[in-house]
Amino acid sequence: MESSLTARDRVGVQDFVLLENYNSEAAFIENLRRRFGENLIYTYIGSVLVSVNPYKELEIYSKQQMERYRGVSFYEISPHIYAVSDNTYRAMRTERKDQCILISGESGAGKTEASKKILLYYAVTCPTNDHMATLGDRLLQSNPVLEAFGNAKTLRNDNSSRFGKYMDVQFDFRGAPVGGHILNYLLEKSRVVHQNHGERNFHIFYQLLDGGDNDLLTTLDLERKPQNYHYLVKGNCPRLSSVSDKNNWKVVMKALSVIGFTEEEKLLNIIASVLHLGNTQFGEGEEGETYITTETQITNLAKLLGVDGAALGEALTHKKLTAKGEEMISPLDFEQAVSARDALAKAVYGRTFTWLVEKINQSLALKDEIYHSGKGCSVIGLLDIYGFEVLQHNSFEQFCINYCNEKLQQLFIELTLRSEQEEYETEGIAWETVQYFDNKIICDLIEEKHKGIISILDEECLRPGETCDVSFLEKLEDTLGGHPHFVTHKLANGKTRRVMSREEFRLLHYAGEVNYNINGFLDKNNDLLNRNLKEVMCQSDNQILSHCFRREEVIDQKRPEMAATQFKNSLTKLMEILMSKEPSYVRCIKPNDAKQPGRFDEVLVRHQVKYLGLMENLRVRRAGFAYRRRFEAFLQRYKPLCPETWPNWHGRLADGVSALVNHLGYKAEEYKLGRSKIFIRFPKTLFTTEDALEA
Ligand code: ATP
Ligand code: MG
Repeated sequence: MESSLTARDRVGVQDFVLLENYNSEAAFIENLRRRFGENLIYTYIGSVLVSVNPYKELEIYSKQQMERYRGVSFYEISPHIYAVSDNTYRAMRTERKDQCILISGESGAGKTEASKKILLYYAVTCPTNDHMATLGDRLLQSNPVLEAFGNAKTLRNDNSSRFGKYMDVQFDFRGAPVGGHILNYLLEKSRVVHQNHGERNFHIFYQLLDGGDNDLLTTLDLERKPQNYHYLVKGNCPRLSSVSDKNNWKVVMKALSVIGFTEEEKLLNIIASVLHLGNTQFGEGEEGETYITTETQITNLAKLLGVDGAALGEALTHKKLTAKGEEMISPLDFEQAVSARDALAKAVYGRTFTWLVEKINQSLALKDEIYHSGKGCSVIGLLDIYGFEVLQHNSFEQFCINYCNEKLQQLFIELTLRSEQEEYETEGIAWETVQYFDNKIICDLIEEKHKGIISILDEECLRPGETCDVSFLEKLEDTLGGHPHFVTHKLANGKTRRVMSREEFRLLHYAGEVNYNINGFLDKNNDLLNRNLKEVMCQSDNQILSHCFRREEVIDQKRPEMAATQFKNSLTKLMEILMSKEPSYVRCIKPNDAKQPGRFDEVLVRHQVKYLGLMENLRVRRAGFAYRRRFEAFLQRYKPLCPETWPNWHGRLADGVSALVNHLGYKAEEYKLGRSKIFIRFPKTLFTTEDALEA
């Protein structure tokens, strides 16, 4: 009967380490489900916060709630994103060590919402610095701008972040936020020119068309209907039911002004030019030559881009080659012209996005007087980055995303095990080895010099002569065939694995198997823009564009780094940044695919529990002791249970705890006393003690 159930039965445990059967995935999911049913969307695994997207507004984020969590320890109060925010902040202040909060989870799980809540918590609860009263505002306002340009509606999330984001918030010696810095990763540029059915391009295009006033649209030579633009109709989804593009346009324009932005006009010219570029059409002449059929379009387009129209038209239909020191111009065929146009649109948009992030960084930059005050700043970093992705059809993008997750898992293993070990050492407790899967072997398979997948891909892109995606796959097979985490249709005995196509390879990731289709790998890695298009662009008199397309790029014939290598290098840097900080984790889970409140799809949740490595996480945390608490805290809570410690204990804390647990009848194998903390091995011991308190 419901009424006879104890609270623990009804709402589950608030920390998974207290689960009796901690090896059971079923028990884990049942605990999540019960709590979700009670609108308790947060649960801990030790200090890791697991969050389930409620898909409805809960009344748990008010200012009063923020106050409740200030200065309070995890176990004293129900789990919350504010508890993580506050504990991280306090650790930064008291231990004077930089912190980071790593938020992961699949698309739609609530990562971006979580990161916004953390930022808001700091903006509201931290002291303000007199010099920089508006910094909190600017930090918060950077979000709508980045979301307008970097988020889009996908099938899984109406506001899906199509880039990875790492943001540092810098605090002065008094704990006031004084600066910020954003790093962005791998914007999904392909979306600019193509969207799958039911998806949209980046929000900003629709916001401009819906929200821009008549004069603005006339200046930009735009019509209101998204249906008129080729780049906006691929997904057949011009409107969102959940948000108003018109309102968001106002929000974004206001945010730009709070950030101190003065280049709106130049920026909007660029956005409009991408739409016009999409409407630039080609025809095929009698001799197979390609020409532009939309000449007026080109004139307007060139005006918006700030470049010469004739040169642009020429560059869209011809390419320039240098052979044996001589320059040659050769015409593009129809398909080449279309892909040159699309490449230009992607480059213009992608580089403008990077410029925008730089611009926001300038506005958030630590002011010199604080930087040079000598009083030291500390940092909390927030990472909101794509989770492990397994789609019906996985390509280069999923490969990069999943590689990123392998690296984060490496970091997690290293840091969690390290911190467990360090805690045991400082407390003087013997370390017990934990069995876990070390995914370094998969990271190496992908990133190792000369023989990793990325190296092979680069080599194949650079190799002169006829290379293609298939020759890349063959190279992979030659070099990696037989690797325990790499599989293709070829079996070791020369036979063919029927279930796999000849165009894919499979990686056995730590989180599961994924098949990658190799079509497009070479092109996407190359990410090339014809040289004559670059030449035209670097002469633009739009200052944003001339900043994005540098003259040196055309003069310097050295090939820039390829996409996967660039990504690999930026991940290496990210790992260094994170390694130097004390991490906290937020693991987000999406409860159903319908984006609906109240629905908990167990199969879907089970997948995520697996991909997020939560069972592994729990095992590591439980390998030694389920529960640990500082002596003072333990005594404070349980002292009423023992006449010797009640009402107050005046001796050494360790002796007090000893007297208390002796009185409670703890057996030697149930607990250990460290230097400042008690470690309890089984949850049952703690529950019995808790129940005694309630009795
Ligand atoms: P992506 O990887 O696609 O960017 P994400 O993990 O960042 O996904 P969010 O955009 O944060 O996902 O969340 C998706 C939607 O879920 C939000 O727009 C919001 O409607 C809802 N949501 C997420 N978290 C919460 C929450 N704590 N309370 C209420 N609604 C939420
Ligand atoms: Mg997001």
